[in-house]
Amino acid sequence: MRLGTVGPTLCTAGPLNSFPGFAFHSVHDSAVQHNCGLFGVWGDEDAVYLTHLALFALQHRGQESAGIVSTNGERLLRHTGLGLVNQVFDESSLEKIRGRIAIGHTRYSTTGSCTEGNVQPLLFSFAGGQVAIAHNGTLANAALLRRKYEEVGHIFQTTTDSEVIIHLLAKPSHQAKPEPLNHVLNHLQGAYSLLLLFPDRMVAVRDPLGFRPLCLGKAKGGAWVVASETRAFDLIEATYERDVEPGEIVTITEEGIASRRFGGDQDGRGAACIFEQVYFADPSSLVFGENVHLARAAMGRSLAREAPVEADIVVPIPTCAQCAATGYARESGIPYARAFTTSHYTGRSFIMPTQSGRDMAVKFKLNVIKEAVKGKRLIVVEDSVVRATTTRGKIGALRAAGAKEIHLRVASPPIRHPCYFGIDFPSQEELIAHTHTVDGIRDHLRVDSLHYLSLEGMLSCVKMPQNKYCTACFSGDYPVNVDEPVEKYAMERGQLRMFT
Ligand code: SF4
Repeated sequence: MRLGTVGPTLCTAGPLNSFPGFAFHSVHDSAVQHNCGLFGVWGDEDAVYLTHLALFALQHRGQESAGIVSTNGERLLRHTGLGLVNQVFDESSLEKIRGRIAIGHTRYSTTGSCTEGNVQPLLFSFAGGQVAIAHNGTLANAALLRRKYEEVGHIFQTTTDSEVIIHLLAKPSHQAKPEPLNHVLNHLQGAYSLLLLFPDRMVAVRDPLGFRPLCLGKAKGGAWVVASETRAFDLIEATYERDVEPGEIVTITEEGIASRRFGGDQDGRGAACIFEQVYFADPSSLVFGENVHLARAAMGRSLAREAPVEADIVVPIPTCAQCAATGYARESGIPYARAFTTSHYTGRSFIMPTQSGRDMAVKFKLNVIKEAVKGKRLIVVEDSVVRATTTRGKIGALRAAGAKEIHLRVASPPIRHPCYFGIDFPSQEELIAHTHTVDGIRDHLRVDSLHYLSLEGMLSCVKMPQNKYCTACFSGDYPVNVDEPVEKYAMERGQLRMFT
């Protein structure tokens, strides 16, 4: 997370957030931030409360801000704030927006900084009435579209890429089309799973390549529910019905549910983000129609076949690599063991202004169980390595605890390329696999051996055909042309010179 680049309006609300002049370092090496979580309910007296609960289940997808917009069929009501779900809502704020229909959002900012104005769902009024939007993903052509509108005098309320969708929707010539939303969506490039709420309808959309997940379910009382991950359904005891398909618009009204297509034929291709399976999604969720834990365990098994080594125990880097480590242990027949304890209670107190303070924070969050590793040959399993800074710290801690040998096994290929589709990666120069060879990384991490899962090995562990996935951060094979990538803070800078 880079700081100090966007002026004084940085988010200061959550333990995982940035503070001016400070940086919080996650215990996970990836330095990759999640994207966003979406949830919607149509037709339940407790829709707002169900959405509130579901947002807790989607908190891992975004910790900077949260919000809910609801309706009873007349006007839209909104409550949003910076911070975690439990910091944003209380009994009275939920009661004030009570309604039978609601959409909610947990955000990690991938375009536009973390400010009150950018918290989603965003709510707008235009000639067609009120509309709220919740977006997961990044529009590859947002800067281009925004510039076109700004050049003819449009004033944007936020610095998100999502707002451009509303400007497209509000344009009278687009409204005059037989299917205005289809027409608007055909202008967009890149990654977008969307929930749109109008007073009389809720609309769920997935981009034609299906970068981000979105699924449909039924709540106990019969209400339709929509979520980024099925983990949200589990918490409210809803059942999973199916995924919203790539290039599908699902409209839910009092009359029921209707589906239509947009975006045309993609030559059978898709771009489901494989990193959802590797790292982002919760292991209990179904994502792209399959369970995340099982996919990760299969990656661990595949890694064990590709890179066997003699050792005493298999240990995961907590907590993300646990699924892959169980697979590696099972395939290799080497016992799975715990080498770290994790503290859940440190939170904001460990946001430190100096590198040594941050190192200390990681130590407090993850503590080595010395007696479990002393004198042992370890296979350490990590789900992914991005910058390698904290992996190096954890390896150092295992060495200091007396580990005899350390063999690092990474359950995904080297990450050499940035993501332009809704995941906030560090810059390419910060990616360790961009600047180092695998042998160089092994030396940098001071491990006895290092092996990454191959691209083919990773893809063999997920269910859809290979051409249905985006693997660009590993392979450099971008499924969409990114001629003008949206830089995270581009919208803050403005496009036009002002004449006064
Ligand atoms: S580039 Fe990587 S993180 Fe981004 S959508 Fe593709 S697979 Fe996912």
